[in-house]
Amino acid sequence: MNKGHFPSVLLIYTGGTIGMIKNPNTGALEAFNFDQLLENVPELKRFNCHISSYQFNPPIDSSDMKPSLWAELVKIITDNYNKFDGFVILHGTDTMAYTASALSFMLENLSKPVILTGSQLPIGMLRTDGKENLITAIEIASAKHPDGTAVVPEVCIFFENQLLRGNRTTKINAENFNAFRSYNYPVLATAGIHIKYNYNYIRKTDPSKSLIPHYAYDTNVIILTLFPGIQENLISNVLRTPHLRAVVLKTYGSGNAPRMPWLIQALKKATERGVIIVNISQCATGMVEMERYETGLQLIEAGVISGYDSTIEAILTKLMYMLGHGKSVHDIHHLMNISLAGEITKDS
Ligand code: ASP
Repeated sequence: MNKGHFPSVLLIYTGGTIGMIKNPNTGALEAFNFDQLLENVPELKRFNCHISSYQFNPPIDSSDMKPSLWAELVKIITDNYNKFDGFVILHGTDTMAYTASALSFMLENLSKPVILTGSQLPIGMLRTDGKENLITAIEIASAKHPDGTAVVPEVCIFFENQLLRGNRTTKINAENFNAFRSYNYPVLATAGIHIKYNYNYIRKTDPSKSLIPHYAYDTNVIILTLFPGIQENLISNVLRTPHLRAVVLKTYGSGNAPRMPWLIQALKKATERGVIIVNISQCATGMVEMERYETGLQLIEAGVISGYDSTIEAILTKLMYMLGHGKSVHDIHHLMNISLAGEITKDS
């Protein structure tokens, strides 16, 4: 078949369950060589699309994902940006939402699709969800409007029929095929007989702007979850940690914390030292509104800022990205109020 005018997609295999196959001799699951991809997924040959692949060496379980590998992904995409119409990243499900969130900030002015997908069962198994996920992800990554612009010019996760904005997504199920949810932002597309795009919710980008890749990040950040009975010495020690730059504070409900003077004092002392403390709710759905109750208001007085309706993955990677770029505390406070890549429900 002549594929001269067909779109092209770069398939980047980082590792995870999707790329595993049962060794017929040992019965163990092993990462398979991507050169054999076409043999294992012959459906790909029928695609009206050029598919090239790039494989992490060695492939990793996504529990081992780290910011230097996010930078490697940014480099691969940047080096190949003009050669391909879209990118599909095969990734373990465990930390896929962190990678998708990080890439959404690190690929500034992205105007091509970067679709992450994976599977709960290896692609070599009969009941695999991997084939379906892979094939539809490629179709989405290569979809264009009649004017030649990408239908989905943003970083997304495609899983079990749903296309979700990457920095709005969280893994919620370790068992079912339906493993991801975007609680605070609508689904971008649903794959049934046809792929139905929700055009109104897909990011509008300006393809005339050049991609600006970012590689820097600062990992001096921590997540603290409040719970009844939380102890002063533990919290105070964490907040006094040398080099600590930012804390994601997981509070109750709409952003509330217990009225314990030691806690508010410890938070205040930290913010006065220049530590950025961002309030995010332990509830999966909804928005932080610290002004609603007295238990939230005291946090504003301690210098804590709102994380709005952000996912934990998005807020953490946004902080790492901004701190890594040497932004001042003042600038970070300002940028946390702005949607950089569609990660919060707020006008940019
Ligand atoms: N532990 C695996 C990983 O995240 C699970 C998966 O691939 O879904 O790499």
